[in-house]
Amino acid sequence: MSFPARAVVDLSAIASNVRSLRAHAPTAQVLAVVKADAYGHGLVPAARAAVAGGATWLGTAQLGEAIALRTAGVTEPRVLTWLYAPGAPLARAIELDVDLAVSSASALTEVVAAARLVGRTARVHLKVDTGLGRNGLTPVDLADLLPAALRVQAEEAVALVGIWSHLAFADEPEHATVRAQHEVFADAVRLAESAGARLEVRHLANSAATLTSPQVHYDLVRPGLAVYGLSPLPQLGGPEDFGLVPAMTLEAELATVKRVPAGHGVSYAHQYVTPVDTVLGVVPLGYADGIPRHASGRPDRMGAPMRVGDRTLGIAGRVCMDQVVLDLGPDASEQAGDRVELFGTGLEGGPTAQDWALAADTISYEIVSRLSTSVPREYVGLDPQTGAVVGQVEDVTAGDAR
Ligand SMILES: *Cc1c(COP(=O)(O)O)cnc(C)c1O
Repeated sequence: MSFPARAVVDLSAIASNVRSLRAHAPTAQVLAVVKADAYGHGLVPAARAAVAGGATWLGTAQLGEAIALRTAGVTEPRVLTWLYAPGAPLARAIELDVDLAVSSASALTEVVAAARLVGRTARVHLKVDTGLGRNGLTPVDLADLLPAALRVQAEEAVALVGIWSHLAFADEPEHATVRAQHEVFADAVRLAESAGARLEVRHLANSAATLTSPQVHYDLVRPGLAVYGLSPLPQLGGPEDFGLVPAMTLEAELATVKRVPAGHGVSYAHQYVTPVDTVLGVVPLGYADGIPRHASGRPDRMGAPMRVGDRTLGIAGRVCMDQVVLDLGPDASEQAGDRVELFGTGLEGGPTAQDWALAADTISYEIVSRLSTSVPREYVGLDPQTGAVVGQVEDVTAGDAR
């Protein structure tokens, strides 16, 4: 493989994280959210691993990802998708047995038309905006839409199988909006059921709520980040506190190593200047690969951490498009080709995606999900094609272009 870096994804960690999440929510089914290419881990392999861990549902934001799961042969679990614009290929999704979220009256009209076109009943989850202010029917919209929704259900164009919503402050379990949104949600469920909807699943909890707010587990929980072993509430606990293991390790080979004198400027605008005669190492990953430029070192502090041997070093100076520089120190014994770890499990003291999030003033969600597809994914732990237990398997589809 020519690309000098890779994201090693431990699919057995994903399966084990789903088992942990099932234990956190023993009365609910688990829908593993695999949107955004499974938070950068690879849609189909991650989906298969989640199913191996006991997820009975998968969820995607984009409709195209739901279709991609089915056409890749992920046929067993239920698949829910919730983000599409007018004119989306809803008929194809219905044919492929995908459950559809409906967030507006016009979306319901389109779903009904698509269901009639293919002669099948579309399974619909009405999305309620209980306070996030993103997509979903307001409680008033829901009351207005229910009569029409029950009418098309009677005609078997749709089956109203779910009512669902999403929390604004799930990562602050004590926040007043959690209770307020829960109350609005409970009212919406009552309204739908008293109007005659026979709901199969009511669902409200993302990762943070799955881990900390059992009162909102209902019939189905929808964890995303936690499936990949990262903590959605880093201020309350790390992955290990919730029984999770980070699944992705990002590693690279040093491209060059060279000795420079004291006072040598490093990378654009010389935001770092070598304090002594030292050795610089070039890591061949940059912002085009998804390394945040905000993780650059500055005159007052080093940038995001990397593991080199048994040392942790911060990025020296600016992150460039394809590379970053480390000051390996005057006594460095590293050579070109040696492995560095940008982030991983953290189990042996190495840096984590959460450490990178802190360094780049963001959240770990963004660190993993923005990793470019230019970086090959390599799967270990489970067979990425089947989710069965095996040794190491390389993904030959990604990253070959570079
Ligand atoms: C992304 C998303 C989730 C998963 O959120 P996490 O915080 O990653 O667990 C669940 N539900 C909806 C609607 C989402 O958009």
